[in-house]
Amino acid sequence: MKFSKLFIPTTKETPSDATLPSHQFLIRAGFINQQGSGLYNYMPMGKIVLDKIRKIVKEELDAADCSEVQLGFVTPIELWDKSGRAEKMGKELLRIKDRKDNDFVLSPTNEEAIVELVKNRITSFKDLPVNLYQINTKFRDEARPRFGLMRGREFLMKDGYSFHESVEDMQREFAHMEETYKKIFTRLGLDFRVVEADSGAIGGTGSKEFHVLADSGEDTIIVCDSCEYGANIETIFEDEDVVNSLNDLTYEELQEKAVGKKCSCGGELSYTKGIEAGHIFQLGSTYSEALDAKFLDSNGKSQPFQMGTYGIGVSRIMAAVIEQSHDERGCIWTKETAPFMIDIIVSSAKKEDELNAGMKIYEELKDNGIEVMIDDRKKERFGFKMGDFELIGFPYAIVIGKKLQDGLVELIDRKTGEKTDVALDDILDFVKKL
Ligand code: ATP
Ligand code: MG
Repeated sequence: MKFSKLFIPTTKETPSDATLPSHQFLIRAGFINQQGSGLYNYMPMGKIVLDKIRKIVKEELDAADCSEVQLGFVTPIELWDKSGRAEKMGKELLRIKDRKDNDFVLSPTNEEAIVELVKNRITSFKDLPVNLYQINTKFRDEARPRFGLMRGREFLMKDGYSFHESVEDMQREFAHMEETYKKIFTRLGLDFRVVEADSGAIGGTGSKEFHVLADSGEDTIIVCDSCEYGANIETIFEDEDVVNSLNDLTYEELQEKAVGKKCSCGGELSYTKGIEAGHIFQLGSTYSEALDAKFLDSNGKSQPFQMGTYGIGVSRIMAAVIEQSHDERGCIWTKETAPFMIDIIVSSAKKEDELNAGMKIYEELKDNGIEVMIDDRKKERFGFKMGDFELIGFPYAIVIGKKLQDGLVELIDRKTGEKTDVALDDILDFVKKL
């Protein structure tokens, strides 16, 4: 891609309500823009990153034998009345009316719709298990939309649903999804923890959350220093008011609380902050019973499906990556999430030799399958282009400047700031090794 052709409206202005680095930088670097409370547009760079996250999620789920579907964003309220969630979800559920006065909701999640979809289509235990997922828009009329993409009202979620003939098989798939999610978060380059969680309004028993570790996380989690154990404090303090008051304590005070001091493995427990990026539930038969979705088991007996449900906050992850990886100058994308791996900065694109050298490297890297951007803008000065490189957060830059006379370009590592002179002829080999 050519910087001069792509729409990347970077700005120095920080929105007044943006307190988190991800919120500030995603807007300043031209990834997203806000069009209303909790409502965001993705500009070209934002769309590229969102699609990359989406692709990783899809690849790992497809490899885990899940099938992608796409459900309608608008669902009839009747389904929500049947499951009892029309009332339970309260004002978070955005209701709309059509011209004939029929009531609908904008899907905040899709358990009801997916049960309706398999109902009378899967009729025998022989057709089970099945795991269906979608990556689609959700709407939740959150009481306090904030922190940019972290807590929007309209957001992108991967929601998956599995159907089983027995509780044991549902638990097997739950464990399988836990492993699949670990692969996804590892590939995304995130530092994360899997923790025991509270099932909340979705219902069911047994659930785990995937938390991206970051000081700005809205959740407090307890983790063991020697085994994999982790838990959301919501599971330890059942009373919601206690959890909320704990969240308002400082971290140090929490550390001193006399709960859960030792893990069952003998390891030390400590508190840390996490961003909930994924949540998997053992749902059971709550929804299949409510919506009367049944199959014939091996004895010819009619049974409600046992279900699992699995979510990933795809758009929230975009913010979580930046919460975990940024500095005072801007974003630092992980290799799998970066919009482009390399930004070729032509210091002075008006100089023909510099622009030609830059274009030559650009074509060569592109031909070798490397995701590369060239900052070929003629009006912008070098300092401005460097500022954009740091703000946007490409992992590397190749600077074409004065050293070109000696056959050299400079490679800059965005994360460490390290600069290395590389001979023009060696650039491809050098980049391939990164
Ligand atoms: P939270 O506790 O943060 O409100 P939740 O428990 O209501 O989230 P789930 O119903 O488990 O969320 O949804 C699955 C995933 O969708 C979450 O793990 C989270 O990553 C993402 N998500 C939920 N609400 C939002 C939101 N308002 N904006 C962006 N992503 C969200
Ligand atoms: Mg959750």
